[in-house]
Amino acid sequence: MGAIADRFAQVRERAEFAYRSASRGGGEPRIVCVTKMQSLPNILEAINAGAAEIGENYLQEAVRKGVFALRQSHRVTIRYIGRLQSNKYNAILRNFDAVDSGDQKFLEHIHAVGGVRTDQARTFLLEVNTGEEVQKGGLTIAQIRELATGHSPWLQEIAGLMAVVPLQASTEMRSRMYENVHVLFEDLAEELGPSRVTTLSMGTSDDFEVAIEHGSNMIRVGTAIFGPRLPQQA
Ligand SMILES: *Cc1c(COP(=O)(O)O)cnc(C)c1O
Repeated sequence: MGAIADRFAQVRERAEFAYRSASRGGGEPRIVCVTKMQSLPNILEAINAGAAEIGENYLQEAVRKGVFALRQSHRVTIRYIGRLQSNKYNAILRNFDAVDSGDQKFLEHIHAVGGVRTDQARTFLLEVNTGEEVQKGGLTIAQIRELATGHSPWLQEIAGLMAVVPLQASTEMRSRMYENVHVLFEDLAEELGPSRVTTLSMGTSDDFEVAIEHGSNMIRVGTAIFGPRLPQQA
């Protein structure tokens, strides 16, 4: 087994163990392999080891590397997890299967166009800014609660939440943030329909076990599978 296949298997084992230990239900965590700055051969090694979902942060990079062709040759879902700019909405919708980093403007756009065509991305998550950092993407928990109370119609487009925690946050802080997002997720699922709001994307290489303990059912793992990101690789 190659190093990437080996590490993918380890991540899967650790995720399954954390899920069973937490015994919270909510579904076995899915693993999104975060492949920014990783070469196509590296990505293929992960896929051949069983990876079924790929996360990319930049449209141009994903196009240049040829990751979208993987959908024809292998059974993979390609998710957009990067910043959104309105001039790229259409290209992102055309190319990706899911957009996990949805913000208010993007989701309002989706709602305004009346959903999307069947050959476009159809799964959208709302990004939660857990650190309350003004310059970071996503809405804070308080903002999302206020929008839900006001029955913002575009919230109906979401299939779940994606939470990003500040890099410098301690394990204790991450624990608290993930738990707060989990409570919000359950409230939103109840309000918007538990069969529709199903995905809680939390946790990266650094902390996916903590996130799973707090109800994450989708983790986004890059370096723990591929090793450090080296700009010249991609
Ligand atoms: C890069 C990235 C990840 C993966 O981080 P690792 O530390 O490499 O696991 C996860 N989520 C988002 C939104 C990212 O941009």
